[in-house]
Amino acid sequence: MTEDRAERQMQFLFQLRQRGVMDKATLNAMEKVDRGAFVKGVFAERAYEDMPLPIACGQTISQPSVVGLMTQALKVQPRDKVLEVGTGSGYQAAVLSHLARRVYTVDRHKRLVREAQVIFDALGLTNITAFPADGSHGLPEQAPFDRILVTAAAEDPPGPLLAQLKTGGIMIVPVGQSDAVQHLIKVTRTETGYDYDELRPVRFVPLVEGLGAD
Ligand code: SAH
Repeated sequence: MTEDRAERQMQFLFQLRQRGVMDKATLNAMEKVDRGAFVKGVFAERAYEDMPLPIACGQTISQPSVVGLMTQALKVQPRDKVLEVGTGSGYQAAVLSHLARRVYTVDRHKRLVREAQVIFDALGLTNITAFPADGSHGLPEQAPFDRILVTAAAEDPPGPLLAQLKTGGIMIVPVGQSDAVQHLIKVTRTETGYDYDELRPVRFVPLVEGLGAD
């Protein structure tokens, strides 16, 4: 790491800790992933600030502290198979790839998946499988999952995703109308059903059904 990059990453991690990201494994994973690689054009210079930024297809890369808080709430274990719904820039998937055995990530926009794949290849993140799909149906071919992370807001936790969670598995999902306050919900699948915990208010782009046009 160059001195500049080391200094920048130190400030980036400091900012995350200040906002409540305390889990060591999460901070280590976020230290390894350069958010600057996932932000293009005029916004690239703001990549290390704690704010969401625009990406292609009218979508956004989430705020780093929200990525951190979601990741730590997910409690990923090294042997876990994880599904992310909403690849977007690929940043969150890259963070997860340092914590899990395998990460499946899907987005309804083919272009976002294609661009994220180029970055995963360049960074040598070979345990990520990315493809275009409507993630509200989950990924039946690869189910069940130890962990599921949804990075777009649903009105309710989607039924197919609940069904594709292993017993003991955890899903983190923003729930609420897209133009109102949403809450980050942690769903834990138990032997007999599901436990729901409300974590914090958030704001995400909506989960939209069907594939996008590009
Ligand atoms: N996790 C991303 C940010 C995601 S923004 C990152 O780290 O950059 C939310 C993404 O969810 C958008 O890219 C949007 O296209 C996608 N999305 C919305 N509805 C979807 C659906 N039904 N299936 C898959 N992806 C969806």
